[in-house]
Amino acid sequence: MNCLFCRIIAGEIPSSKVYEDESILAFRDIDPQAPTHILIIPKEHYDSVLEAPAEVIGRMTETAKQLAASEGLTERGFRLVINTGEEGGQSVKHLHMHLLGGRGFGWPPG
Ligand code: 5GP
Ligand code: ZN
Repeated sequence: MNCLFCRIIAGEIPSSKVYEDESILAFRDIDPQAPTHILIIPKEHYDSVLEAPAEVIGRMTETAKQLAASEGLTERGFRLVINTGEEGGQSVKHLHMHLLGGRGFGWPPG
């Protein structure tokens, strides 16, 4: 298995898990870009959002909303990001959603 996130799911690589169920895993990003920076991934491998069914994307989004609440971000606001493909800045080819919050990110301005 050469997919980094599949190896995290399998427990071969340690991660700071914050949520897990039968189809979803969420863990803290190793290089956080904000005070809260969590990655939400499906346990089933999809290269990107282009391959994933709507149900999977929906489960990821619902998990992100729950985690935003538990991180205290619901009122303040937060960002959900799915980088896709080369020009989209996707470095890990296993679908993942970033949950970012806790301060401004420099974009959009203000
Ligand atoms: P992408 O750039 O593909 O949208 O996001 C990949 C993310 O995975 C990056 O934010 C990066 O910091 C994170 N990442 C890469 N390797 C690891 C790892 O081994 N463990 C964790 N927790 N995050 C990782
Ligand atoms: Zn994978």
